[in-house]
Amino acid sequence: MKNNNKIFRKKVKITGNLVFETAFHIGSGKEGELATDMGVLLERDGRPILPGSSLKGNFRSFAERLAGYLGLKACLLDSDLSGVKCVSDETYRKGVYEEFKEIKQERKKLEWLQDHVCDVCSLFGSPLQASRIFFSDGLLLEWGRGLQVRDGVCIDRDTETARHGAKYDFEVVPRGAAFKITIEIENPEDYELALVGAALAEWEHGFRLGGFTSRGLGKVCFTDRKVEKTDYTDAEQLMDYLISHKMTPADSLLDKSLEDQLLNGGNHA
Ligand SMILES: [Zn+2]
Repeated sequence: MKNNNKIFRKKVKITGNLVFETAFHIGSGKEGELATDMGVLLERDGRPILPGSSLKGNFRSFAERLAGYLGLKACLLDSDLSGVKCVSDETYRKGVYEEFKEIKQERKKLEWLQDHVCDVCSLFGSPLQASRIFFSDGLLLEWGRGLQVRDGVCIDRDTETARHGAKYDFEVVPRGAAFKITIEIENPEDYELALVGAALAEWEHGFRLGGFTSRGLGKVCFTDRKVEKTDYTDAEQLMDYLISHKMTPADSLLDKSLEDQLLNGGNHA
């Protein structure tokens, strides 16, 4: 039985680098430093920010697309569309919420959730339970120490032609920027590690992040994967972790979980 309870049993930590092969734009929602229409997200001192929330959203969408191949269920936040009932779908949640509210015992609540949450939301979080996968903000390793400005033209949605004179410009962080990131997973089941492994492999092949990707921006690769784990139920590992945050190297953990999941046809229930 799954037992994704709140007590720490184990933790898996993945670190690596995200290296941009092109310029990228993660918008600030405001005008830019260089008086452009659309700025990028920057620290006070002008260094670019790579927010963990953007990384998580991107990674989650890969997990959603890959879940079916691993025999796992993904609701795509829309039960009608996916045919998967999950409390992340608002209509479905409203229908079953009274039933959930009536459950008093924490353990029973968790059991109920296991039957009403899809495999992706169970890991990435749903309106009724916290996420168990965490993405750090990127730690800037290198960049070109400057921003560039690109021009855009507003396209008329009806005619798909450029509206006369309707131009805008936006800032980008130049190509070559690199960030270190950390992904932590609490109490993962093997099939969840398989899903993370599959999504991470996609990231290692290269993906697009941020805005204007249809114009070729935001091409980035995940490199230098390092995986560590700790098992709190093992006295020695618990001591190492609590005293010095030392974890056990586990570089083949994700690949092994993925292989097992594919071989046993996704039988995790
Ligand atoms: Zn779901």
